[in-house]
Amino acid sequence: MKLIDCHAHLDEFDEVGTVLKRAVEARVTEILGVGVNTATSRRILEIARGYRNPRIMPAVGLYPDEVTEEEIGSILSLIDEEHRNLAALGEIGLDYWIKPLRKKQPGRENVKALQQEAFRLQLKKARRYSLVPIVHSRGAWADSFRLVEEEGLERAVFHWYTGPLEVLKKILAAGYYVSATPAAAYSPQLREVLSRAPLERIILETDCPVPRRVGDERIGTEPADVRYSLKALAALKEIPEEEVARITTMTAGELFIKPGF
Ligand SMILES: [Zn+2]
Repeated sequence: MKLIDCHAHLDEFDEVGTVLKRAVEARVTEILGVGVNTATSRRILEIARGYRNPRIMPAVGLYPDEVTEEEIGSILSLIDEEHRNLAALGEIGLDYWIKPLRKKQPGRENVKALQQEAFRLQLKKARRYSLVPIVHSRGAWADSFRLVEEEGLERAVFHWYTGPLEVLKKILAAGYYVSATPAAAYSPQLREVLSRAPLERIILETDCPVPRRVGDERIGTEPADVRYSLKALAALKEIPEEEVARITTMTAGELFIKPGF
């Protein structure tokens, strides 16, 4: 069995080497490392160059909560410089639930407009360089889908999608993908999404170090914990784990692994 963790904030770990060693023991062969701004994206590229097993597939991007005019400029230059070395663009998208966007906050519309501008410009790069965008769409489900579609992306991953089912229908009809995190074991919204999406459109991830829930406890995750995403998805779909691993790993490989990587 081989597993791919399709979303890991590897820059957030102090002991990356130890974390990666445990990933190998959990049969993780590849990890998609994602950035949230220019500094973390550069760190992901550095980690990808420093480790061979498991292989780190680097993604760079500007996360909605990190958007500033200056960051937009620097992330676009980084994408231009490094596009040949990238496996995807992420983590990018929209988030209308962040603090500055809550009701009655002054400047709310400007923040929203800047998020959309940053997302659109990165989607244009994704299309230009044939890179799959890893889309964060929290609270901005319909707008996130609309922008991806308007920018003409053939492929996209709606990471940890838990939005309305009518938007999910559009995501699937457009040929896009969703992902299973360890929350597939307990999040009713995520379980609903995963039960409706065909297995061939689902990839596995951790979003580590975001904690997973075990009873009342919250335990920080790492790439090895993608096994919990697998376990939960297999139980939900009533398909053996080996088969779910085979199909999701094949899908992730098609999305992110370039020939000669
Ligand atoms: Zn993330």
